[in-house]
Amino acid sequence: MILPIVAYGDAVLKKKAKDITKDYPNLEGLLENMFETMYNAYGVGLAAPQIGLPIRMFLVDTTPFSEDEDLSEDEQKALNGFKRVFINAQITKEEGDEWAFNEGCLSIPDVREDVFRKPKITIEYLDENFKSHKESFDGLIARVIQHEYDHIEGVLFTDKLSSLKKRLIKGRLTNISKGKINVDYRMRFPDQKKKR
Ligand SMILES: [Zn+2]
Repeated sequence: MILPIVAYGDAVLKKKAKDITKDYPNLEGLLENMFETMYNAYGVGLAAPQIGLPIRMFLVDTTPFSEDEDLSEDEQKALNGFKRVFINAQITKEEGDEWAFNEGCLSIPDVREDVFRKPKITIEYLDENFKSHKESFDGLIARVIQHEYDHIEGVLFTDKLSSLKKRLIKGRLTNISKGKINVDYRMRFPDQKKKR
């Protein structure tokens, strides 16, 4: 089932999300719906707050990035089929010199900006079977994880922009929260006027 994606301006996107336990109701069905929702919107990641749930869970599938011909063959291979579920994740280390990448977000359609982040991360998390992992990632995989991880911390990529950039996009963000935007996937807008 495709779930509506929560748009910029909704309070759930600003909340620090909470850990879940193995007996979370219908976890398997929820993950299935989240993957379907992400693929339907051509996303490479989706966090639970983006479907209105303030829980520490997100998923990624970087396969679409593997078709980028500017990347090395090794990078393309790493990105192809990298599909994971991250539950109760904690990034324990971020290393290296910050690099810029043009990020977008399914909750903020049509806004893309360069965001600076460190290139290498170490993350501890549980997978969909509640098996624990500690892994390091770099490059675009790390980038996608960092973006989704920010969602469970209540942070959006637009929060990381310079104050000038924030001023420049303010009107567009207001329009998104009001639903004044064309988007080809299901969304829920916090400030949309109810139709009578
Ligand atoms: Zn996002």
